[in-house]
Amino acid sequence: MEDKLDARFQELEQKLKNMSEEDLERVRESFQYAKTYHEGQLRKDGSPYITHPLEVAHLVAELGLDADSVMAALLHDTIEDTDATYDEVARRFTSAVADLVEGVTKLDKVKHTSIEEKQMENLRKMLMAMAKDVRVMLIKICDRLHNIRTMEFQSERKRREKSLETLEIYAPIAHRLGMQRMKWEMEDLSLKFLDPVAYAEIEEELSCQAETHAAFMEKIQNEITGRLEKEGIKATVYGRVKHTYSIYRKMYAQNKTFSEIFDLYAFRVIVDDIPACYSVLGCIHDMYKAVLGRFKDYIGTPKPNMYQSLHTTVIGTEGIPFEVQIRTWDMHHKAEYGIAAHWKYKNGMANKQLGTEETFAWVRRLLESQQDTDAEEYIRTLKVDLFADEVFVFTPNADVINLPAGATPIDFAYAIHSGVGNAMTGAKVNGRIVGFDYQLKSGEIVEVITSKNAKGPSRDWMNLAKSNQARTKIRQWFKREKREENVATGRAMFEGELKRLGFTIGMITTEEMLPFILEKVRFNSLEEMYAAIGYGGASAQKCANRVRDELVHQDRQHAEALAAEKAAQEQTAQAGRSSADSGVAKTGSRKSVSGVIVSDMTECMVKFAKCCTPVPGDEITGFITRGFGVSVHRSDCPNARNGMNREDEKDRWIKVTWDPSSLNTYKSTLELIGKDRSGLTMDVATVLGTNKINILTFNLQSLPDGYAKMSIVVEIRSQSELSSMMNKLQQVKGIYQVARVSG
Ligand code: MN
Repeated sequence: MEDKLDARFQELEQKLKNMSEEDLERVRESFQYAKTYHEGQLRKDGSPYITHPLEVAHLVAELGLDADSVMAALLHDTIEDTDATYDEVARRFTSAVADLVEGVTKLDKVKHTSIEEKQMENLRKMLMAMAKDVRVMLIKICDRLHNIRTMEFQSERKRREKSLETLEIYAPIAHRLGMQRMKWEMEDLSLKFLDPVAYAEIEEELSCQAETHAAFMEKIQNEITGRLEKEGIKATVYGRVKHTYSIYRKMYAQNKTFSEIFDLYAFRVIVDDIPACYSVLGCIHDMYKAVLGRFKDYIGTPKPNMYQSLHTTVIGTEGIPFEVQIRTWDMHHKAEYGIAAHWKYKNGMANKQLGTEETFAWVRRLLESQQDTDAEEYIRTLKVDLFADEVFVFTPNADVINLPAGATPIDFAYAIHSGVGNAMTGAKVNGRIVGFDYQLKSGEIVEVITSKNAKGPSRDWMNLAKSNQARTKIRQWFKREKREENVATGRAMFEGELKRLGFTIGMITTEEMLPFILEKVRFNSLEEMYAAIGYGGASAQKCANRVRDELVHQDRQHAEALAAEKAAQEQTAQAGRSSADSGVAKTGSRKSVSGVIVSDMTECMVKFAKCCTPVPGDEITGFITRGFGVSVHRSDCPNARNGMNREDEKDRWIKVTWDPSSLNTYKSTLELIGKDRSGLTMDVATVLGTNKINILTFNLQSLPDGYAKMSIVVEIRSQSELSSMMNKLQQVKGIYQVARVSG
């Protein structure tokens, strides 16, 4: 037995003869190590366990993978099934080898459950994502192929399980990776266990006609070879009967009998270059009658899994149809070994950090160069698989949920249902409680703990969720459930931002400015904007920035318009100096909302300075503010006087006049000082009342020595009304001073 093992290992060394002596030594060490650890373990057929890893290593070597992969194949069951540990393998060999072993071990733990077809694709993706390094998957496929080749001694149940899993999971993955040979073998062996009757039927049909087949194939092969020789095309030609599972699929999927299977035979013509492929195609179509609609140019348009060949179906002289596949040697190797072919046939690739992002760049380039739409889909899924920007986790019911990399239990819960997310109070991963910030890994089983009394999502969940789906659902919840809170938070956030930019909320809530602001931020009201900011549907910073832009814009427009008007007015004044009254007549004809005419403008925002509260009749002057129109001061207001003397603001002061036609009232603040007595305030109020003057506010303040000060804000129509008013107040008994407040 020992001799047999050693002989088989010698054969492995033969397959690795291109490897450096140093690498070969490491492979030998791995074999010894695995042999020692598996000592005493037997396979179901009674052979030493080590024969299995050794055969897997053969398959891996045949794929042409690197030394690390061959070592990992030899060691692939040590961590799981013996006393060996990851650390020991890493120490003894390298962590790269230990990682590959661990990767294969992890894939073993994902149980294939009977799930629906649409879930199957997710399960395949999960395995690919878990593999991370494509070599892990290639080793796993070799492992599976050997297992299924040697299943005879397993229990019936185990055989069915493994066969189904192979057919549904590993054969499609092998197909995706372009490894036709292994795919076919896995399919045929699985079928043999799953549907032994149909398998036997097909095998029998094939063997019954074996001689006929052989004769037919030899004849066609000779015909083609002869013709190509005559044409001077160097080619290798061979024929085969299609593999059992593909015949089975055609019989059952298309409900046909064996004799109705259209293309039982396939011939391969392998040539040196692409032009030769098309020359061969010409010859074939010249020799045999082509079946319409069966020609496929997979050279011009490669299949999604990188497969390239010309396919055509023709009818031979006996009336038997057969398929011809024409390809170059390079295409042939890729079709047989798929992604692995790149290791086998690209020298220098081996041993160079295989499995790193950089190494995959060529896979990506290769895939991206394909234009076919199917290919695009393939690229998308393959990229996802190889570069793992997704994670795949199980629900407790073994459904596979697909989430973006870095996803947390929050993403998982909302992927199940928004109701589950909103009622979540905790989460378990593989049966252990985890935090909401736990990052899920492919293959984990996730369980959400919910409660009827859950308070709903908290705001920091927005930061913990990775998927847009979860974030949208959390946002919706806040939008719906917490309107008042949203408005308050949103308002505070917005005002904070605005303050940071140097503006106050008062600057935008004026009647004149608000419509512009709302249009700019695209909300119907400030409250709506606050609510949106509050639940995260809008950004406080973006809104504040927009508001700032609008304020600056408005300011610039006013300043420019006013400057232009001022210039125009000066010209008119010069031109019309001979007729002094024309200007007055002109202004007099204008209407103004504010009661003040700003130069020649009608459409202009005007406000009255709080410091001096001018009223009609007062001499006034206007100041062009930054963004809020013209502010009107009394000419004798100290602020105005100071302002006009300032060099940098001189140009902003403009001429304004009262609109004589206006019936507006104006606020004016009066200050009265007098000897306090009972009935003083009533007497003052009576004077104002009998003269039909509205009082807006009235403050009384006691001063020392029995005096009192009254501050009264009144509504007044003109300066003359105000003067007569002040005269009357002066006559109230005890009042000795009446003054207008200014500055
Ligand atoms: Mn194994």
